[in-house]
Parts: sequence; C-alpha cells; structure tokens
Amino acid sequence: MYNPKSKIATEFICDSEIRATMQYARENSGNMELVQAVLDKAHDFKGLTHREAAVLLECNDPAVVQQIYALANEIKHRFYGNRIVMFAPLYLSNYCVNGCVYCPYHAKNKSIRRKKLSQEEIRAEVIALQDMGHKRLALEAGEHPLMNPIEYILESIKTIYSIKHRNGAIRRVNVNIAATTVENYRRLRDAGIGTYILFQETYNKANYEALHPTGPKKDYAWHTEAMDRAMQGGIDDVGIGVLFGLETYRYDFVGLLMHAEHLEATYGVGPHTISVPRLCKADDVDTADFENAVPDDIFYKIVAILRIAVPYTGMIISTRESVKSRERLLELGISQISGGSRTSVGGYVTEETPDENSAQFDIADHRTLDEVVGWLLDLDHIPSFCTACYREGRTGDRFMTLLKNGQISNCCLPNALLTLKEYIRDYASPATRAKGEAMIKRMLADVPNERARAKAIEYLERIDAGERDFRF
Ligand code: SAM
Repeated sequence: MYNPKSKIATEFICDSEIRATMQYARENSGNMELVQAVLDKAHDFKGLTHREAAVLLECNDPAVVQQIYALANEIKHRFYGNRIVMFAPLYLSNYCVNGCVYCPYHAKNKSIRRKKLSQEEIRAEVIALQDMGHKRLALEAGEHPLMNPIEYILESIKTIYSIKHRNGAIRRVNVNIAATTVENYRRLRDAGIGTYILFQETYNKANYEALHPTGPKKDYAWHTEAMDRAMQGGIDDVGIGVLFGLETYRYDFVGLLMHAEHLEATYGVGPHTISVPRLCKADDVDTADFENAVPDDIFYKIVAILRIAVPYTGMIISTRESVKSRERLLELGISQISGGSRTSVGGYVTEETPDENSAQFDIADHRTLDEVVGWLLDLDHIPSFCTACYREGRTGDRFMTLLKNGQISNCCLPNALLTLKEYIRDYASPATRAKGEAMIKRMLADVPNERARAKAIEYLERIDAGERDFRF
C-alpha cells in the first residue's frame, strides 16, 4: 500500500501505485480538461503530485508541451533567477566491490585501471581545481569497505577544506558515495559536507536487483532508505536522482517524484537537488545493451515537468550531456551544472591515454570551465560560485522557507555576483572577464533591497582591491 510517510522502501516507493499512475496517465493523456486543470494548478508554483505530473508527461499535444516548457522556464527564473551554480566532480577512487552492470567500476571489470588517490594526490587535484576557479565539489567514489572506508572519505574531506592555494578555496564539498549507516552519515555531517547525493539508479525493485546482482548495493531497501538514514544522521540537504536509460523513463519519473513526496511528507523538506543523469558509454559498458535509452525530446520534457512538479528543488545536469542538450536544458529548469569535469581518478592533474583509462564514463562536454562560464554569460545566465547558504546555516527547511517566500533573492543574487567577480578577477580569460563585468554591472540593478545593493557594491570594490570571500 502506498504510504509516503512510511520508512519502508516498498511502501513509499510503491510498485502498484506507480503502475496505477502510469495507467491513469495513459488513460487521461487526451483528457484536455484534466490536463488544463493540472497546468492551472502548476501556475500556482506549489508543485504537482506524481499522478498530475505523469498526466503531463503522457500528453503529447504540441500546445500543451509548449506551455510546459514556458512554465518550467518561468518557475526556474522565479525561484532561481538567471543564476546557474557551478561545480566539478572529484573522483577519489574507482575501487568497488559491487556488480552494477551499467558501471565500469563493477568488481569483475579487469580492463579499467584501478586507482585511489593518496592525500598528496588529492591535494594536487584540488589545487588544479582551485586554479580553474572551482569552489564547490562533488566527491565520487566506488564502494569498497577496505580501499575506501568512511575514514578515507572523511580524511579526504578534511584535506580538501584545508587547501588554500593562492586565492582559491573549496568552500562546499558535496558527497556522492554509497548508501551507509546513520552513524557514518553523522560523521559526514560533522565533517561539514554540503549535500549528500545518492542516485537511486532505478526505482523498479525487480530491475534494480537484476542490475545490481552482487555486492552491498544489491539490497534495494538499504539503498532506497538511505536518504532516511542520512536525515536521521542530521544531514539536511540530500540530492536524489535516477540513471535514465536503465528502466523505462515513465516508471522512474513517477518513482523519483514519489521519493521527493516521501521526504517532504516525512521530514517537512523535500530533496535539495534532483540529478538527471543519462546512461553513457564507458569502459566495459555498451549503451546498446540497454533498451530503455531516453531520446532527447522526451528527456527535455522530463526535466521541464520535474521543474514544474518540484519548483523549489535545485536541478543538476552534468557533462554527460552535450553542449547542445545542456543549452536546451538550461531553458527548462536546470539550476546547477558542472564544468571542466574529469571523470577519471586523478584526471585534473594527469591526462590519461585511452589504454590507461580509469574514467567512470565518457563525457560529452569537453570545454574548459572558462569556456563554460563565457558560454553561460553569452546565454544571459549568471555563473555562480556561491556556497553561502550552507555556510550561513541556511540548510534544509530554513533554505526552503526562504526560497518559497522569495526572500532568498536578496542574498542569492548578490552572492552570485560577488563570486562571479572573484572568478573573473582570479581565473577568467580577458574575453570572459569583459562579459562578466558587464553582467555584474547590469544585474546589480536587480538586487531588490537597496541596502543589500549598496553592500554588494562595497564588497565588489573590496574584491577589486584584493579581499575575498564576502557573503550575504
Ligand atoms: N558508488 C556510489 C554509489 O553506489 O552510489 C556512487 C558514485 S558513482 C561514482 C556516481 C553515479 O554514476 C552512479 O550513482 C551512477 O548513477 C552513475 N553512473 C554509473 N555508471 C554510469 C554510466 N555508464 N553512465 C552514466 N552514469 C553512470
């Protein structure tokens, strides 16, 4: 029985409710009265239920699809303005005991080069990332109790936060590691992580078990209930996602929204972020072996409807997507993107030859961070390196409350401009610097509160004079 407040995986992700929802959506895809009622509700900016969202996903009327796209764009701008938060992944280790059939880290893969960074190597990677201009990282590691125990992850986080190279600093470390215990989540929280990220891969239990035949990750309940344990361990901000291409997109779309509903119903705060990775080619992984690949047009629709259904949740796209697809997705609700990413272990310092590949998957956007920043500015987005909210204790429901009542715009916009200013002073090419300065000048006028605007101007001048790390 479907129960969003239950702490049992198969009750808050209820297979029969997902299947009933898919059928309901199919039956009502041409019910224009219902479709219009759902769109009208979405215009209140308070989100949609999984059933309502599923009806929109099933409706292919071109005029409705255009309305969905326009509304997604409007909602993104209403809650997140034209800011796009920047981050980079940092791969610590690809040792893994699991058997995930879609991931080249799987234990039986003999062709991938196994690598684990020492603290000295992490230092070198972080300096390279700081020299690009990054301030926010997502830590990635395979699951290996002996090679990558929690102590290794905690020590790595400490190392990362301790490095201050030139004007550089990593100010927020998000963590994407395997499901773990409440006690370990507490230790991650105490280490000062930002978001704990864990992709469900697929919500379909039977398919999940087939895709994860061996290793601790094969336990569907342990994996699906991980965010509950993270919350119990005191982590306020959790990031969910599915790996599109493993299961039918219809099933996982509904599952993802049910997971968000569960977190909201149980903890009073939904997921901080939703990631929408699509399966990529990788060492030992051929995407042709998976029959559920999601075509671009459906993928865009999925992202836009997620944006409408959970208006307050940040949405992340990685360099798995091409430039063209990222450009389109930015118009449909994405609020965070990675740039200049390497998915190999040690890849920011050492360029690998193809035969020594340690990468998790092949990326589709190979541009430098400076090129990505310049491109965002050309498209009228503000690349933001802001990490202020969690450093000021604005996490979980405190963040969501500010976002919902619009108060966040008095801190987010100036913070985005201040961190962009730091970026262009310290790292940008002359062309990107000129675009960035023009953007800052223009957008300052949009800071709603007069005192905040005056303060922002003062801080910008002080950044020019050499000071760093101001925040609202
Ligand atoms: N080991 C951790 C776990 O068990 O969740 C997470 C880290 S893994 C480095 C991050 C994510 O990469 C996985 O959750 C999966 O969704 C994604 N991934 C794995 N193989 C992939 C592929 N071939 N293409 C795209 N993404 C992939």
